[in-house]
Formats: sequence, structure tokens, C-alpha cells
Amino acid sequence: MTQEILMAGAAQFGLTLSSVQATQMLRLLDELDDWNQRINLTAIRERSQQVTKHLLDSLSVQPFLQGSRVIDIGTGAGFPGIPLAIANPEREFTLLDSTAKKLKFVEHVAQLLRLTNITTVHARAESFSTPWRFDVVTSRAVGAIGRFVEWSGHLCVGGGRLLAMKGREPQAELSALPSGWKLVAMHRVMVPGLDEERHIVEICRSHDRI
Ligand code: SAM
Repeated sequence: MTQEILMAGAAQFGLTLSSVQATQMLRLLDELDDWNQRINLTAIRERSQQVTKHLLDSLSVQPFLQGSRVIDIGTGAGFPGIPLAIANPEREFTLLDSTAKKLKFVEHVAQLLRLTNITTVHARAESFSTPWRFDVVTSRAVGAIGRFVEWSGHLCVGGGRLLAMKGREPQAELSALPSGWKLVAMHRVMVPGLDEERHIVEICRSHDRI
């Protein structure tokens, strides 16, 4: 039943999950429960809530992905990064966080589920430098949009997108966008089974064509 809810919910975002992918996502939740007894990874412990708030909420960003390289800033226990990596085996995902113990969980799950498209980075976003950049930079629950752009903008390729996953429409935060960046669109998203507002704020460089 849970698997059917997950597959039907994912379909709302244009994803046809195989039963293997759905099983991998539910296994991720099993591992989260197990590790949560030792380290605090999530306050959401009820399975149907986990499916909605961790899996389907993560997948809600799917329609806005582009290109082949994605970095998830402040991924924590791997959200939205791990569900997206399971759903998009053809894309490469870098999951970055400043807290090592959370990344240990991500690494454990990536190994267990043989997710070869996941790389972890233990760093603060603002001090992470890399010779390559990313087509999409995601973040969920990592603070104000202006700060996210300041910390992570350097990781985005020209023509790429920053996607901030937010609850209520964060209109006030948009006035604090750093110069050189502009709003592409504020997307209201409906997460199946969730009776709360969700928005995805899509941002690009000022000189990029929309
Ligand atoms: N994205 C996950 C989610 O939605 O479940 C985790 C959200 S948690 C509230 C915020 C995460 O951001 C924490 O894991 C924290 O370690 C990380 N974080 C905070 N500041 C950061 C920074 N400057 N660079 C990288 N990670 C950061």
C-alpha cells in the first residue's frame, strides 16, 4: 500500500518509478528509522508522514531539474538529494553538508542501495570550491534564500538554476536576493497527501536568458 502511494505520488511529478526504485526509497526510510535511534536525523517518525514529507516532498523538485549535474546544499540525512538520485540514475548528485555524522548516514545508504551517482562533500557551502560547477543547486530547510544564494551561487554554471524549496510563499525573502541574481519563477507545488503550502523558488544569474 505504501509503495503504491509513493508511486502514484511520484507520478504527479512526471516520474514513473520502477518497483526497484520505490523499494529503494522505502528502504531509505527503514535505514532512517534505524539510525534515528542512535543519532537525531529526523523528527518525522510516522511512515505515511515520512513518505509525504521526505520522499514526495523531495521529488516535488523533479520538474525543475535540468542538465546532468546537481548539488544539494545542506542535504542533512539526504533530502532531497537521495530520493532524487534514486529517481534519476542518469544524473550525478553531490550531497553537501557541514555535519559529518549526517553524511555518514548518506554514505551508508548510497553504499547499501548501490547508488553510484551520489558523491558526498563534507564542507560549508560558502567555502567549498570545485573545478566543475553544477546545472542545478537545490536546498531544503537551509535558511533564507538570500543566504543560500550567497553561499552557493558560485557552484552554479552559467544558465544553471538555484532551486530553494520553501513552505509558505517566501515573498519577503526575495527582496534580499544578492545582486547578480534574479527570480525566474515562484512555483506553488502540491505534494500529494500534504495539507501544507510548498513553493519552489527558481533563481538564475541576472544576465541569463529565462
Ligand atoms: N535538507 C535537509 C532536509 O530538508 O531534511 C536537512 C535540513 S537541516 C534543517 C539543515 C542542514 O543544513 C543541516 O544538516 C546543516 O548541517 C546544514 N547546513 C547549515 N549550514 C550549512 C552550510 N553553511 N553549509 C553546508 N551545510 C549547512
